[in-house]
Amino acid sequence: MNSNDLKIIEDSIRVIPDFPKPGIMFKDITTMLNNKEAFALLIFHLVKRYKEYNLDYIAGIDARGFIFGAALASHLNLGFVPIRKKGKLPYTTVSEKYALEYGYDEVEVHIDAFKKGDNSKANVLLIDDLLATGGTASAATTLISRVGANCVEACFIMELTFLNGSKKIDTPIYSIIKE
Ligand code: AMP
Repeated sequence: MNSNDLKIIEDSIRVIPDFPKPGIMFKDITTMLNNKEAFALLIFHLVKRYKEYNLDYIAGIDARGFIFGAALASHLNLGFVPIRKKGKLPYTTVSEKYALEYGYDEVEVHIDAFKKGDNSKANVLLIDDLLATGGTASAATTLISRVGANCVEACFIMELTFLNGSKKIDTPIYSIIKE
């Protein structure tokens, strides 16, 4: 992506200090979504990158990963699979717990989400808005392999590199904005 386009995307993300608690600089992507130029540039860039990846599915993490993942899947003519917080998916699920600062959270996926006609492993791109400590994305990549698919890459709009989240994820990572 050229530096002008990257700047348009970067500038469209609003930063809210101390949300949801003191000390967190919350990256608010709603101001990118309602900026048609920035949102279109972002999706165009991702389509260009991933059209040659031989993907079968895009998997998005609850909830902001759904927005980018579904838009991208539609442009690439691929299926979209939601990776949801526990208790939201209606059919049989596989779930994975991960540690938070205090306690645990859990994500789930439908057991039959990544089907392929020829019984080979489906190639999946995982997407979320932001990589922080990596707990959520690492649980999501584990889920993808536990249901028999192959996570080709994990893609983030932003990565907070000082939190070292990428070290937790044993799949290639692509982040558009790093800070
Ligand atoms: P983690 O599991 O620590 O990598 O956290 C990633 C998840 O938390 C993503 O789904 C993000 O949407 C959200 N998140 C964490 N930190 C922030 C932040 N500073 N601004 C916006 N979202 C965040």
